[in-house]
Amino acid sequence: MTLKIAVLPGDGVGPEVTAVAIKVLRAACTSHELHFTEGLIGGAAIHATGQALPDVTRQLALESNAVLFGAVGLPEFDAQPPARRPEAGLLGLRKALGLWANLRPARILPGLEEFSPLRPERIAGVDLIVFRELAGGLYYGQPREKAVDSALNTMRYTRHEVERIARLAFKAAQGRRKKVTSVDKANVLECSGLWREVVTDVAREFPDVKLEHALVDSCAMQLVTDPQRFDVLLTENMFGDILSDEASVLAGSIGMLPSASLGEGPALYEPVHGSAPDIAGQGKANPAGAIGSAAMMLRFSFSLSREADAIERALEKAITSGVRTPDLRGTATTSEVGDAVIRELARGSRE
Ligand code: NAD
Repeated sequence: MTLKIAVLPGDGVGPEVTAVAIKVLRAACTSHELHFTEGLIGGAAIHATGQALPDVTRQLALESNAVLFGAVGLPEFDAQPPARRPEAGLLGLRKALGLWANLRPARILPGLEEFSPLRPERIAGVDLIVFRELAGGLYYGQPREKAVDSALNTMRYTRHEVERIARLAFKAAQGRRKKVTSVDKANVLECSGLWREVVTDVAREFPDVKLEHALVDSCAMQLVTDPQRFDVLLTENMFGDILSDEASVLAGSIGMLPSASLGEGPALYEPVHGSAPDIAGQGKANPAGAIGSAAMMLRFSFSLSREADAIERALEKAITSGVRTPDLRGTATTSEVGDAVIRELARGSRE
């Protein structure tokens, strides 16, 4: 198979972690042809072209099979209005790609329990993924307005919008522990009433997956009191925004977290962290989030589950064996973690 991948490293630690993810992808996909084409985005693009998302980068992303993204943001742009900041590049890219699902796994690797804010016995073995609807709901609903003494936002969902993300979540659950927790506020909101009806309908297509419904307030509590009970969490845009951030702190270091955003066209894969200007250029960035994002790319854009599993297993082995960056109290550099993952991949393929 030929994999045409647009690489947008961006700013700060973005290029450092992206370079490692590419090396790992090459090592994991020896029987496929990988074409990486690099483009400018964020502060680097503003410096070179005056735009955070140059047209040529947008085009590159749209013509690829998938986009591997690093991070954007540079302190020198902090005083600029939002439209002139590097972050505008990422927002523009997400819009151009028409992304409607955001996937954020939160998994605690054995031996890393001490880095979680939760007690070790409560966090051990947590392995969940949040499926957040990304294109609808309150953040985009019309009409919206702000007057002096009142303001209005609109929450609207269509059956189609709920069905497509629900199917994605159930399909993913089939390859995991076969449980979907759909999160809503059906006791108060009409949108949640529709959400619950449609998710229940979609569940009939997946009889091997257990569906449960949870109210968002109760789910927020359970995420910190009993996170081990969750497998796939499925929810709408605003609830997902909040719950995915809550879930992300469980794993201890932000450097560990991968993400994927899927739409009709090329999907976007990026570590959850930002450009980390405080550690940029020092080889201190944890590349696990970027490597995990690369594994998600193989799984969701190219259906290469075997290779994706192999990367995740190798990453787990490298980190649990003690090859860790300073955020996990280790002394390894970004590229040393990458090299350890590649060694584990080679060992795994010999076994
Ligand atoms: P950040 O995620 O860049 O950093 C927060 C903290 O986590 C810092 O202490 C940093 O050193 C640490 N950290 C981040 N990634 C790490 C990694 N891979 N390994 C080890 N430690 C890591 O968030 P911030 O400091 O709020 O933002 C910095 C810049 O990044 C800002 O310009 C912000 O707008 C931008 N940002 C971009 C994205 C994105 O590109 N998706 C996301 C968040 C923030």
